[in-house]
Amino acid sequence: HVTTKPPPEPSPLRKAKFFQANMRILVTGGAGFIGSHLVDKLMQNEKNEVIVVDNYFTGSKDNLSQWIGHPRFELKRHDITEPLLIEVDQIYHLACPASPIFYKYNPVKTIKTNVIGTLNMLGLAKRVGARILLTSTSEVYGDPLVHPQDETYWGNVNPIGVRSCYDEGKRVAETLMFDYHRQHGIEIRIARIFNTYGPRMNIDDGRVVSNFIAQAIRDEPLTVQLPGTQTRSFCYVSDMVDGLIRLMEGDNAGPINIGNPGEFTMLELAETVKEMINPAVKIITVENTPDDPRQRKPDITKAKELLGWEPKVKLRDGLPLMEDDFRKRIGIPRK
Ligand code: NAD
Ligand code: UDP
Ligand code: UDP
Repeated sequence: HVTTKPPPEPSPLRKAKFFQANMRILVTGGAGFIGSHLVDKLMQNEKNEVIVVDNYFTGSKDNLSQWIGHPRFELKRHDITEPLLIEVDQIYHLACPASPIFYKYNPVKTIKTNVIGTLNMLGLAKRVGARILLTSTSEVYGDPLVHPQDETYWGNVNPIGVRSCYDEGKRVAETLMFDYHRQHGIEIRIARIFNTYGPRMNIDDGRVVSNFIAQAIRDEPLTVQLPGTQTRSFCYVSDMVDGLIRLMEGDNAGPINIGNPGEFTMLELAETVKEMINPAVKIITVENTPDDPRQRKPDITKAKELLGWEPKVKLRDGLPLMEDDFRKRIGIPRK
């Protein structure tokens, strides 16, 4: 009579996970612009259960109305600066206001969200053994002295400026991610997101694409902030979501730039919006805000090589999709 020793018992959580058919995914900030599009994509996979936590500071339940009541979906009002106890397999950590007017509105809260909020999500990832993805930002490069920016560049950031709550906050969040990875073996992914646009952006959030489109629809002058020669690169939200999921599912921790390398000056963007949406609209120049980066364009070599990802939607194809959504919400149909 031979007895073989059984393998060691996995922890109850691991055991449960082994038999669990569904992948349980937490999206922090899932009621926001990028988060809600990410939820749409994740929900398309019937193996996913999606839990959103959001404090609705800049996000809205309206962005998720299509999923409320769905058996694989759960929405929880929660502020991530408070601890969170749930059981999940993956965490997409997006919660943080992204528009300068909102993140500057309560800068101390922005820092807390980035630092304490990220610490809590890492503590959660550690406790349940989940993989966690942070949506960092191109703002970690500050007003960059190299162009285009690749991930090896350490940035040129003002630590005491009005934007610092956001860009230094994200830099600390990245540091925390790597320290939890090195110290506790947490599986991490870091995306450095460049300017993203698309439907569901807050209409009056002050960002340039949303401002210009709303202004063109309302027949108000397009406000180009001086000098107007500063550049940005705009990624359509479906491309962004695709990049984030590839990063989460891939083997590389990052940081990896995710953005569209097509670079435009703000004057060029205004001309394009004018031509496409309202040729009669005026373009005016107005004062800028402090520490505005003069140029920004992602080097996406790493995303191409490691994730097989590159953006597909050109600015001229994405703008009309956003215009449709803005016209519906503002209540001014195309003439
Ligand atoms: P958003 O403001 O639309 O979404 C952020 C969401 O987080 C909102 O729903 C908001 O209510 C929620 N939130 C904020 N603080 C919270 C807190 N303390 N607790 C719980 N929820 C909180 O912004 P977005 O454009 O969707 O950006 C999502 C993420 O992507 C952010 O982390 C942002 O820093 C990053 N990002 C965005 C861009 C961009 O161009 N949109 C560029 C770079 C990085
Ligand atoms: N945390 C959380 N949910 C969890 C586990 C931890 O919100 O499931 C929070 C916890 O309250 C703490 C932070 O995450 O503030 C960091 O947790 P960790 O265990 O790494 O550190 P410690 O609690 O030992 O300071
Ligand atoms: N900008 C502009 N007009 C506006 C809003 C913004 O010209 O009505 C400019 C702003 O000066 C900056 C660029 O657009 O150079 C992008 O600003 P945004 O706030 O959209 O994003 P950022 O990249 O600065 O986070």
